[in-house]
Amino acid sequence: MKSPVITSVVEHDLCIGCGLCAALCPQGILAMQWNCYGEYNPVETSPCTTECGLCLKACPFADSGENEDTIAKRLYGAVPGIRHRSETGYYLASYVGYSERHRPTSASGGMATWLLETLLTEGVVDHVICVSPTGDPERLFSFQVFDTPEDVRTGAGSAYYPVEMSEVIRQVLEVPGRYAVTGLPCFLKAIRLAQQRNKKLRERIVVTVGLTCGQLKSRQFTEYIADLAGVRGEVAGVRYRGKSQDQPANNFYFSFTTADGKERRLFWNEGIAEAWRNRWFTPEACNYCDDVFAECADVTCMDAWLPDFSGDPGGTSLLIVRSGEMLNLIEECCAFGKISVASINISRVVRSQRSVITIKKSHLAYRLYQDELLRKVFPKKRIRSSSNLSELERWKCKTICAMQRQSREFTLKNGCYLKDGASSLKGEMYWDLMQLRLIRFLSFPFRAVRYGLELVAQTLDRR
Ligand SMILES: Cc1cc2nc3c(=O)[nH]c(=O)nc-3n(C[C@H](O)[C@H](O)[C@H](O)COP(=O)(O)OP(=O)(O)OC[C@H]3O[C@@H](n4cnc5c(N)ncnc54)[C@H](O)[C@@H]3O)c2cc1C
Ligand code: SF4
Ligand code: SF4
Repeated sequence: MKSPVITSVVEHDLCIGCGLCAALCPQGILAMQWNCYGEYNPVETSPCTTECGLCLKACPFADSGENEDTIAKRLYGAVPGIRHRSETGYYLASYVGYSERHRPTSASGGMATWLLETLLTEGVVDHVICVSPTGDPERLFSFQVFDTPEDVRTGAGSAYYPVEMSEVIRQVLEVPGRYAVTGLPCFLKAIRLAQQRNKKLRERIVVTVGLTCGQLKSRQFTEYIADLAGVRGEVAGVRYRGKSQDQPANNFYFSFTTADGKERRLFWNEGIAEAWRNRWFTPEACNYCDDVFAECADVTCMDAWLPDFSGDPGGTSLLIVRSGEMLNLIEECCAFGKISVASINISRVVRSQRSVITIKKSHLAYRLYQDELLRKVFPKKRIRSSSNLSELERWKCKTICAMQRQSREFTLKNGCYLKDGASSLKGEMYWDLMQLRLIRFLSFPFRAVRYGLELVAQTLDRR
């Protein structure tokens, strides 16, 4: 018989490829592999003979009876001083700042790498699990277990590339010790679900560092941008968050290295933004995600996409802290001048992710409404289906979904490597891009009013 996670999740194209099901399967019959869209999925290496259902219970896209609210309530609901907002989940404190030492090589202010290193040096954990480049063109990044700050630093930066956790979670199950783990919201939800069923994971994973997340990308996203940057050979390595001193933080560059050691760069506003914002090469599972701020994480790190900070080429981080232990650690290090951070009003943190919140809350409600009409199978979400969206937003949501589907179909047609594919994909998207331009034009007055209101709100928050 088939494993329940295959029939309930993978066959409905709802898998994000976290790998927790494969790590937990007591029969060891699930292995993580690339699917035809360049995303990770579990596949069966032999038939499931027990149907124990453990795979489903750890899956962030199966109906385990739990959601981010119920999980986080159990973890943080009783922390003294904790508060809650519908957009962020629980929060104890929020900060803005950076680590001077780490920000040059990090995605934003370097706070994630600083925190992971500090957890090791302060003896809070023995091992750190984070994502690092591999040097293997078939698998440019992977989760790895590190024991020294120098190794943790090799993982600095964001990997907009599929990575899966089955190997590192198996390592946690085999090797005793205290572990800290970084992860996107859905990956950390999977870890929390797995911890409820597995004592070793509960005892050994003692700190979770989440990343705010708008979407993941398939490996074809990297191939597409490399093609756009003029890379003609195989991509041997990529850095997604290069910083240029004459550019604001929000115009970072992707830097590709090829097998012959050549480097090519492409800036965000040279075509990356178009593919990112229009959700080209985004897995279908991300369409069913309602967690922006990694609500199950002890600390969540993100970019300070606010007018006062995004102009700084060095990059600045925002942090949401949920655990008392992490709060003390950050406050202590701040007092000793190890990091430059200050408190920031949580409503400014929410505003920094306004567009992601729209996609994961109001657009999601509308997508669920459409799925209901089409009688599609979709996971149970905290957000209810609703058609309550303006005509312009409906149009935008539908156009972006159409482009997302088209980009994945393009991958099916063109296979793994999209050599010379950039121009043909853009050609296929032409009419959708024109529609988006028209929507943008028509919504200009609304955006202008909203921008004005935001400026007023920011001024009030700073007082
Ligand atoms: C797919 C993706 C989507 C994101 N979307 C948003 C967004 O919409 N808004 C926003 O503000 N921020 C987003 N981020 C987070 C942002 O890019 C930065 O990672 C975050 O600001 C932390 O920056 P830093 O300088 O503190 O971290 P750094 O010091 O650069 O450290 C980052 C840490 O995260 C680990 N890491 C990198 N990629 C991954 C990954 N794929 N899975 C697990 N761990 C990883 C690294 O190994 C490293 O330890 C996203 C990140 C990813 C990977
Ligand atoms: S989302 Fe994770 S747990 Fe669920 S099927 Fe995919 S790999 Fe397995
Ligand atoms: S958008 Fe949601 S489902 Fe997609 S990678 Fe991010 S956290 Fe996971």
